[in-house]
Amino acid sequence: MDLLYTSTRNSQGGVTASQAILTGLAPDGGLYVPERIPKLTIPEKALMNMTYQETAYEVMKLFFTDFTEGELKNCIQKAYDSKFDTEEIVPVKKTNDAYYLELFHGPTIAFKDMALSILPHLMICSAKKNQADKEIVILTATSGDTGKAALSGFAGVAGTRIIVFYPKDGVSPIQKQQMVTQEGANTLVVGIEGNFDQAQTGVKQMFSDQALAQELAAKGFQFSSANSINIGRLIPQVVYYVYAYARMMAQGELSEKEAFHVVVPTGNFGNILAAKYAKEMGIPIGKLICASNENKVLYDFFRTGNYDKNREFILTSSPSMDILVSSNLERLIFEMTGRDDSRDRKLMETLSSQGSYQITPEMKERISDFYGNYASEEETASTIKELYRREGYVLDPHTAVAACVYEKYKNESQDGTKAVIASTASPYKFTRSVMTAIDSSYDCKTDFELVDELEKLSGVEVPQGIEEIRRAEVRHKTTCQVEEMPEVVKGFLGI
Ligand SMILES: *Cc1c(COP(=O)(O)O)cnc(C)c1O
Repeated sequence: MDLLYTSTRNSQGGVTASQAILTGLAPDGGLYVPERIPKLTIPEKALMNMTYQETAYEVMKLFFTDFTEGELKNCIQKAYDSKFDTEEIVPVKKTNDAYYLELFHGPTIAFKDMALSILPHLMICSAKKNQADKEIVILTATSGDTGKAALSGFAGVAGTRIIVFYPKDGVSPIQKQQMVTQEGANTLVVGIEGNFDQAQTGVKQMFSDQALAQELAAKGFQFSSANSINIGRLIPQVVYYVYAYARMMAQGELSEKEAFHVVVPTGNFGNILAAKYAKEMGIPIGKLICASNENKVLYDFFRTGNYDKNREFILTSSPSMDILVSSNLERLIFEMTGRDDSRDRKLMETLSSQGSYQITPEMKERISDFYGNYASEEETASTIKELYRREGYVLDPHTAVAACVYEKYKNESQDGTKAVIASTASPYKFTRSVMTAIDSSYDCKTDFELVDELEKLSGVEVPQGIEEIRRAEVRHKTTCQVEEMPEVVKGFLGI
């Protein structure tokens, strides 16, 4: 019997994993959730001896039950290979007071690679299984990290094309250079005269444009999304929490079944939800510590039970967490209602009409294993500086938000349980924020000069992903107005 996926807004019916991966969002606007979370039954001893790829197979086979062993192993093998700069794929780095799970050793040096390196392969395989004969066209709007990770994942994958829109003046110089130098005949990168929200809205309009969809279909194309609400992105993220537990036992840092907390710098709520799924599979995770930056909607929500996006949007040094509507939270809301689709739908309707909703005390009770807090910009910078001073270990600003929130948790709770901090980006991706946090006099240097300074200071070699773009040829020079986005897409597809 296959494990089926139903929409958070309609529990009737159910689709297979491959269908859910192919469609992304459910037709009613809800998110696909598995009917139940499967239990991991492998003994700890066996788990400890597994490679990342083997662990990935054991976890994913329980969720993606309509994939054959061969198909799944093939996807895993293509995703987690020498694109990662370490054989371990995700090393666990121990410091004096926490364990950093380094999720940034992939090609674009941010944790999005963990899921976006496998999603294209899962998607192609899903298309074959469902006799979808059209070429898949991935459309993405990005504020920086997702775009490059999606480009890198889909570049050169037969049967797919990828088009990324980014705000022309709204990403960091390194992020921009990463995207405009992207190789691969099936890739297109376009700068928008506008901000991220406008790019995002433009993409959403194309997704819901029926006439455009028909025009595409007639020429053998269909749109799909690499957005973080796709279940094909969420499940691969469960793997590294299982792997972290196994590695820590293997290294003698945890005993069997010993509980540990996880701390996750959060934006769209995908990464921390994956940790919750790992916990439900049977991994002894204690608290799920949700760290926000100054856009602290989630902190307020965990405290008061009121989700309220009616507030100022703040630009911070951790841009991938500058989010007021955390899409994946809906999957947790659905659980909190006791898997009641009509209540979930009503809450989401209230969110879109009023920008806020209130959960009941009974619902709040169901998420008592979550703890939320936030770090201000000053606290984030001083966390980077302090850890560097004490241990020589350099954090990126997103991870620093998590480290700071973990300190706050410990001070409040006096809880000495060990904790794994999800380290979501390499400091090399945000060199300016990182270096000026350590010493403000660095601010006069260029971004690539700062790369070299960071290497001297941290002793960590400049990652391949940065070396490559330093002198790479700019291949994507297209820019356009927001209204021109559909024309640009059609031009690229030759229709
Ligand atoms: C996307 C991202 C996050 C936020 O992850 P979510 O799954 O959206 O909560 C945190 N840090 C970095 C560096 C990211 O790229």
